Amino acid sequence: MDTDVLIVGAGPTGLTLANELRLAGVPAVLVDKLAQRSTLSKAGGVQSRTQEAFDQRGLLEPLLATGNYPIGTAHFAGITLPLTRDRHRHPWRSIPQVVIEGFLEQHLAAQDIHVLRDHELTGIAQDEDGVTATFARGGVVRSRYLVAADGGRSTVRSLLGAEFPGRPGTMTTVAADVRLGGDDQAMTHARSEDGHWVSVFPLGTDPQGRPLRRLALGGPGRSLPREVPVTEDEIREGLRAVFGSRVRLLELRYARRITNAARQAARYRHGRVFLAGDAAHVHLPIGAQGMNTGIQDALNLGWKLGAAVHGWAPEHLLDTYHTERHPVAAAVLRNVQAQSLLMDQQGARDPDLTATKELFAALTGLREVQYHLDDMLSGMGIRYPIPGAEEQPLVGLPAPSRDLGPVRSHELLRRGRGVLIDPDDRFAKVAARWQDRVDRTGQGADAEPMLIRPDGYVCWAGNPDDLEPALGHWFGEPR
Ligand SMILES: Cc1cc2nc3c(=O)[nH]c(=O)nc-3n(C[C@H](O)[C@H](O)[C@H](O)COP(=O)(O)OP(=O)(O)OC[C@H]3O[C@@H](n4cnc5c(N)ncnc54)[C@H](O)[C@@H]3O)c2cc1C
Repeated sequence: MDTDVLIVGAGPTGLTLANELRLAGVPAVLVDKLAQRSTLSKAGGVQSRTQEAFDQRGLLEPLLATGNYPIGTAHFAGITLPLTRDRHRHPWRSIPQVVIEGFLEQHLAAQDIHVLRDHELTGIAQDEDGVTATFARGGVVRSRYLVAADGGRSTVRSLLGAEFPGRPGTMTTVAADVRLGGDDQAMTHARSEDGHWVSVFPLGTDPQGRPLRRLALGGPGRSLPREVPVTEDEIREGLRAVFGSRVRLLELRYARRITNAARQAARYRHGRVFLAGDAAHVHLPIGAQGMNTGIQDALNLGWKLGAAVHGWAPEHLLDTYHTERHPVAAAVLRNVQAQSLLMDQQGARDPDLTATKELFAALTGLREVQYHLDDMLSGMGIRYPIPGAEEQPLVGLPAPSRDLGPVRSHELLRRGRGVLIDPDDRFAKVAARWQDRVDRTGQGADAEPMLIRPDGYVCWAGNPDDLEPALGHWFGEPR
């Protein structure tokens, strides 16, 4: 083998996965077809769970130190959810995707892991022992496993002939990074009487400290074919249709047309090849979910691949990547479709739709509704079908951060290993058998005992008799 894992694609998914494998002590090679990192700004919104996961790896603080990334308020179909703002340790934040990619790439480079650029994968063949990948520029890489993190038009997915069911795009909207002038208060989600709409989100500042904004706009007659270039005039006209003279375009930095295609791979695992991020699921970017879902795919898969390479993964472990992550993206696709309809992205001005939206907007005034939507969008409500989840309220959910005296529990996840919180030292003997994979702490008198997987999800709490089976289920046979 040339390497244990070959990661194809150095977007947010591939870069996160490379870091997870580094933590697991597994040699990986990360390739990308681009000769240089893309400077295109795509994602802008980073959800609570993604920030929490970065925090668990000790990456959030240094990431936030690289600039000024404002906290925002989550929305569903353009309806803001103010009651959810201070619900989590890390509220919704605007951090451009380019910043995250640059930060992760530098972090990896500091550990001597470099993206092999200008390496376009063009062929794969797998057998019982591994995968052979070939590249446009020549050369072959043989690996034990291969992860396709090569985006929505994934070459690997095509080469596999993997089913990618769903719906083709039926319309386009414009997404642009801009500087705007005029009434700051007006720069939000707004629509005109005749069905034109504009959404404006903060996107940090330019090198001169001037506010940048992400703009999305659409409405009747604005759904042009994807290949048609977006012009400044088109954006000016879109702003005028909604804001009149209150908001004007000062600078257009980047623009593209995006479609509402919604597809998801039927299977995330194809033998030794795994699909992750946009290679596994695509949808219209509403509600800041695509990159976040991809990063969380990588967190779920990384430690499992690490376990397989180290030889302690229980038989079922790699398959849980599909069983845990497929339903998450399926739910994202559904909520995006609902949002797209409610936002009347096509500017249909159907009175039935208007009535539905009015009713929905009234319902979102209720705290419980806002919390429900926030759980869905922030990633904090993701609950994996982990054994014990039906009886134990914590099991299957992201681990809460508990005060353990000298540290908080989330800091113990920095090594990317399992963590057993055992305040009474009750389980020291049993945990010692897995000490090469699971760290145990006896600190934190008030914390409830729990076993946390390396990706930060609780996989045991409550019944002491269930701890040993849980250790075996997730961390394999003890040495
Ligand atoms: C306008 C816009 C706004 C968005 N806003 C948000 C948001 O606010 N929040 C959010 O969570 N998401 C958002 N998204 C979605 C987000 O950008 C994507 O979900 C995210 O980029 C997916 O990351 P990825 O790493 O899976 O794939 P990508 O970012 O597409 O990266 C794939 C990489 O693979 C490389 N590659 C492709 N083919 C090959 C090959 N054959 N060989 C080698 N390398 C290859 C590519 O060069 C690329 O670098 C937005 C998207 C758009 C377009």
